[in-house]
Amino acid sequence: MKDFIIASNNSHKVEELNRILKPLGINAMTAKQAGIDLSQVEETGSTFAENARLKAVSAFELSKMPVVADDSGLVVDALNGAPGVYSARYAGENATDNDKINKLLSEMKGVQPSDRTASFVCSICCILQDGRMIEVSGKCSGHIALEPKGSGGFGYDPVFLIEGGKSFAQLSDVEKDKISHRGNALRRLKVELERALG
Ligand code: IMP
Repeated sequence: MKDFIIASNNSHKVEELNRILKPLGINAMTAKQAGIDLSQVEETGSTFAENARLKAVSAFELSKMPVVADDSGLVVDALNGAPGVYSARYAGENATDNDKINKLLSEMKGVQPSDRTASFVCSICCILQDGRMIEVSGKCSGHIALEPKGSGGFGYDPVFLIEGGKSFAQLSDVEKDKISHRGNALRRLKVELERALG
């Protein structure tokens, strides 16, 4: 097992990353478990990829261990791409997932179902022990619901509908991993890591 640090404090994301990285022989630990403090790293990038790189570089400089950082969010077409890189802070710094969902639904008031297209995007930056950088991204397309559905997942899951009409929050972990933006990005990372680690 190779130890990698996951540069995130979001326990749901760490769980999702872990489920997918374990089969690769990667033992992922959180920054906190590795004893490094990433609270000062500001996500100042204007793209998911830039933010993932910022987090990965900081975690690597502090730990000198292999790291995986991701930045992700929801891109809503009718809102010109919002909340985008501001997905986590969309309803303010200490807002709950419910606050964010309520803000999104109120911004979308009056938008017809056919115009409620959206996608989740995830960019991942991985830095290996020798400093080599691997960058990948993944996407999952869907629609914004008229009201929340389901109790699983986190963040905007209850209002993100996939083909067939179920929300992300109505899927099992395995079902979500198969189609999610993060699952897609991690499968690309897996291919690149297998190539890089030999
Ligand atoms: P960050 O990547 O930690 O900067 O934050 C991304 C934010 O986007 C999260 O706090 C969630 O609100 C949202 N997000 C990212 N991925 C998902 C997902 O799989 N489901 C629901 N919300 C997500």
